[in-house]
Amino acid sequence: MGESAMMVDQTLKETLLDSIRTIPDYPKPGIMFRDITTLLGNPKAFRRSVDELVHPYAGTKIDQIAGIEARGFILGGAVAHQLSAGFVPIRKKGKLPYETVRIAYSLEYGVDEMEMHKDAVSEGEKVILVDDLIATGGTAEGAVKLLRRMGADIVAACFVIDLPDLGGRQKLEDLGVTVRTLVEFEGD
Ligand code: AMP
Repeated sequence: MGESAMMVDQTLKETLLDSIRTIPDYPKPGIMFRDITTLLGNPKAFRRSVDELVHPYAGTKIDQIAGIEARGFILGGAVAHQLSAGFVPIRKKGKLPYETVRIAYSLEYGVDEMEMHKDAVSEGEKVILVDDLIATGGTAEGAVKLLRRMGADIVAACFVIDLPDLGGRQKLEDLGVTVRTLVEFEGD
């Protein structure tokens, strides 16, 4: 894949950055919360985000999009539609009705668990992971490990927002995962 297919042009970055609302000290003091509900509510920004996330993979065979609860469902569903792929929800424990596989993952403080249905992905299927934002990468790392345990071939992990200072992209790249992000914010 050529470098140009992976680059996001400057005007698009500005459109997306302008559409994301930052809420200081939410959910706790010191956190700059990057709120994508304003991006989702902006027809142009929402459409362009999804177009840019799928762009490098258009015309390639992708079997499933795995979205991380809950904002990854919104973006992932749209990406799945664009790529004519299926959609696999990765949820917090206890939410899925059928038999599940589960993994613990690290949060800023402590651990939590996420699950997917045990038959949601078949051995060798090509999967793209989608979430709104990557920070420390703990959540996405858990999802990658869970998907791989089920035999998924992870083509890429895609996020609208990268917080590069928190090292999540590097964590995924160290696992051999290609990471695609559209905009960055400094700091955490
Ligand atoms: P992490 O596991 O540290 O990469 O955190 C990623 C998850 O937490 C994603 O599902 C994000 O939606 C959410 N998240 C982490 N930090 C922020 C932030 N500053 N603003 C909005 N969402 C965040």
